[in-house]
Amino acid sequence: MRQTVLVAGVLVAVAFASVQAQRPPISNNIRRFVTVDAPVVALTHAKVLDGTGASARNDQTLIIRDGRIAVIGASASTPVPEGATVVDLTGKTVMPGMVMVHEHLYYPTGPGVYGQLGESFVQLYLAGGVTSMRTGGNVHGTMDINMKRLIEAGSKAGPWMDATAPYLNGPNTFQQMRVLSGPDDARKQVNYWADEGATSFKAYMNISRDDLAAAISEAHKRGLKVTGHLCSVTYAEAAELGIDNLEHSFMAATDFVADKKPNACPGQAVGQKTIAGLDPKSPQFLALVKTLIDMGVSLTTTPAVFETFTPGRPLPPGLEVLTPQLKEQFEQTHARTAKSANSIYSTLFMKGLELDLAFFRAGGKLVAGTDPTGSGGVIPGFSNQRTIEILVEAGFTLPEAIQVVTLNGARYLGRDQSTGSLVVGKQADIVVFNGDPTSTISDVRKVETVFKQGVGFDSARLIANVAGRVGIF
Ligand SMILES: [Zn+2]
Repeated sequence: MRQTVLVAGVLVAVAFASVQAQRPPISNNIRRFVTVDAPVVALTHAKVLDGTGASARNDQTLIIRDGRIAVIGASASTPVPEGATVVDLTGKTVMPGMVMVHEHLYYPTGPGVYGQLGESFVQLYLAGGVTSMRTGGNVHGTMDINMKRLIEAGSKAGPWMDATAPYLNGPNTFQQMRVLSGPDDARKQVNYWADEGATSFKAYMNISRDDLAAAISEAHKRGLKVTGHLCSVTYAEAAELGIDNLEHSFMAATDFVADKKPNACPGQAVGQKTIAGLDPKSPQFLALVKTLIDMGVSLTTTPAVFETFTPGRPLPPGLEVLTPQLKEQFEQTHARTAKSANSIYSTLFMKGLELDLAFFRAGGKLVAGTDPTGSGGVIPGFSNQRTIEILVEAGFTLPEAIQVVTLNGARYLGRDQSTGSLVVGKQADIVVFNGDPTSTISDVRKVETVFKQGVGFDSARLIANVAGRVGIF
């Protein structure tokens, strides 16, 4: 391949080199998690869910060369190159590494207390099958940026990261959030954090339209995107201002609050009441969908966190990795939630997903994240897998659900040339399931190996490294 390109001419060779994936650097610190690391790897006899929304293909062989997918084809007609490291995936299934866009490196460890758990979280994300992620707001300042750099240098095991700056917000009650004093301050904050290395921004519930407009235009000047978990600004207003993405899909929209005052958050619960009663075929909903699609605004669905608020839902997966104290704390929360008879989430949880599906099927850009905040119980890695299960329960086909958590995220992040689907030429970011999610959906929990640029990380070893200690590091 390389010789052919060189014969074709210098310019072509340069262009080829610029897109050539390489295996990522692996420090001694993280080598213990690696089970496959070779210049040429053949994954044979795998069932393939390719991330594009296409149906599964049986008995495929993938050849990985220098961190990139070089060949995919039927095993019967795809020879294994001499000297390749062969991994027989008979009875197993592969999909692209997940690209999730509402992740965090912090977790609620007590009322109003947010533990900075980046060290364990990045390992859990990778173990769960996430190879790229955006953090959706941070309350620390530099941790996300530093962690991104350490992962890229190979000194920490974790996904590629789009690191957000601290939240952009107006007057609010979170002591962890700065209050913007106006549009000049919004511009200043965007430039400060972009200079520090932040690669995206998140607006929060009390931001004013003017501050949001200033932040969006300043971020766009630097080629960076802005998302928002909004309330004070409606979705239609934010779309007009040019926002790129809205968090929690329609669950945070205040567009349908009858007497909504400009720049004021009527309360998340007030907005949610209007969403819980919303008909996906109603003209006002269809008009908002059209506005979002026309303006190219992506919506992030975050069902894993909303499930933890909803009575009657099962305990979420992965609680065993928490410290015993945090595990017990969440189990008590879950038991209390189960008894709450008048919870809006009893109708809102599935309604939100119904609206997501309507938006997606109408051609809307739907992406996904887990949001490990709320009242706890959303465990990185495990909750990313859970997201696929919930989307399927809500009526997405499995290939559609996988497209949402892989290729759609990559498109949003502008990384779909290098990751997000299993096609020749892209990075070998690949999740191996020990089973077949097309017949048993819970097999998405059986992640065995996660390839990041062709290097295979052992999921169980990564989890064992943090098990029982998540909460204290
Ligand atoms: Zn969040």
